[in-house]
Amino acid sequence: TPPSGPLNVVVTGAARGIGRAIAELYAERGHHVLSADLNLPPVLAGGGRGQQPRIKADISAAAGRTRLARAAHELGQVHVLVNNAAYQGAHGSVLEVSERGWARTLSVNLTAPLLLTRELIGLMPRGAAVVNVASVQGLFAEQNNAAYNASKGGLVNLTRAMALDLAPHGVRVNAVAPGAISTEAVLEAIAGSDDPEQTRRDYEDLHALRRLGTPREVAQVVYFLGGAESSFLTGTIVPVDGGMTASFMMAGRPV
Ligand code: NAD
Repeated sequence: TPPSGPLNVVVTGAARGIGRAIAELYAERGHHVLSADLNLPPVLAGGGRGQQPRIKADISAAAGRTRLARAAHELGQVHVLVNNAAYQGAHGSVLEVSERGWARTLSVNLTAPLLLTRELIGLMPRGAAVVNVASVQGLFAEQNNAAYNASKGGLVNLTRAMALDLAPHGVRVNAVAPGAISTEAVLEAIAGSDDPEQTRRDYEDLHALRRLGTPREVAQVVYFLGGAESSFLTGTIVPVDGGMTASFMMAGRPV
């Protein structure tokens, strides 16, 4: 039976962007949220002691994961783990991407979700859920982004492997695959381009709905996948992409 009442939730990469929106949504709805990030996440209200717990931790390092597990232990049980943190800095084609960038991308985006889930499984009761934040780039590829594409494609199939292997523990595992979302990172990329207005329209036109998604719109789907209303879903990948992957062309226009 899925847990009822306030949930204990762990969100990685919660200092900004989609992870922050996920942590805020859970906090607003009365749950206990442990936010973790390389940078100290913002203070959120609630959580029983007036403010939600937050820690600085590098989830790609064993020491960071151990510190996170210790902080999670103080919550008691973990009902929802959201593997959201990602490294998006190793751009480059298959011929160009550095070995170092490749390794870091795989370590943060693919290996850390595996190892962190293992580290926390002992705190997860039956009915608990893991939600992985993948990407449309885990379903299809983009030019000059080989490491990120591979890491998210790996996370998509790791989600299915985790769903099968954790089902006997009563733990469900699903993923979201967001399209382009109006996070700080995406807005900075648009602002820093040669023609920001055109770049924004280009991003928008990737989606059938002709706009960017909001971090909140991703958080709402994560919330659903983490909770009892999705109790018969496991091993599924939910695109949160405004119809981007409904078409084999960019929202119906030739690429
Ligand atoms: P972001 O880069 O703004 O935030 C990611 C957060 O993760 C940062 O706060 C960063 O400090 C943290 N982080 C990075 N490495 C870490 C580590 N080793 N340990 C702990 N924390 C670490 O990213 P975002 O745009 O909010 O994306 C969040 C998630 O959504 C990522 O998994 C990303 O791949 C995915 N995603 C984003 C978009 C988008 O359009 N923004 C689209 C598809 C998927």
